Amino acid sequence: NTFAEIDLGEALNQNIRRCKYVKPTPVQRHAIPISLAGRDLMACAQTGSGKTAAFCFPIISGIMRGQPVQRPPRGVRTVYPLALVLSPTRELSMQIHEEARKFSYQTGVRVVVAYGGAPINLQWVLLCVFVSLQILKVMRDLERGVDILVATPGRLVDLLERARVSLQMIRYLALDEADRMLDMGFEPQIRKIVEQMDMPPPGVRQTMLFSATFPKEIQRLASDFLSKYIFLAV
Ligand code: AMP
Repeated sequence: NTFAEIDLGEALNQNIRRCKYVKPTPVQRHAIPISLAGRDLMACAQTGSGKTAAFCFPIISGIMRGQPVQRPPRGVRTVYPLALVLSPTRELSMQIHEEARKFSYQTGVRVVVAYGGAPINLQWVLLCVFVSLQILKVMRDLERGVDILVATPGRLVDLLERARVSLQMIRYLALDEADRMLDMGFEPQIRKIVEQMDMPPPGVRQTMLFSATFPKEIQRLASDFLSKYIFLAV
């Protein structure tokens, strides 16, 4: 029961060794094979359970080994990521981005983060400068091309409205801390985002939903967004 036994591709396995991960955590042990087999997944996972790797590894591995996709050339206004990771806060998005970048080192898979929600107690002028700089940075990152986009729902809706991002080529969707996103009132944004993925041409989307709790609202989200999913509680 080591990562070396899971066929994730040599470049990714090397990065896993570099991170000094030897044994998968329980959520990884179960979630990774399910995702590699192409199944949708709803998993009960707390912070610290290793869930970031649980959804990043199959995504990176899948993109590395997937059919090459025809996307518009880099530098055009709209980017077409293949995978989307939605997370509730900028802090969590930054953490996921940092980890995903380590995992995708020298795999050719590009990861970009876009988050909203600047600190609210800064003075207004500073805040405007800060937000503008962040938007500029995200735009620049996006222009270099992106395979995996990590985003908070609010910021992503903004990028979709500006037509900077298209979700029509999304093959992998991971919803991290889904219960927290709903608590923060992001359900309308999440639904708007997923609706755009379902527009023609229909992609074959694989969805992973991670949540610490499973109230009715989360179950409804799962039945709306996931297809024939496997429920995992570890
Ligand atoms: P997460 O729950 O994804 O936030 O991960 C919690 C922490 O555990 C992070 O610091 C990870 O780098 C670390 N971690 C995740 N998976 C493993 C693993 N299989 N072996 C050792 N450390 C891990």
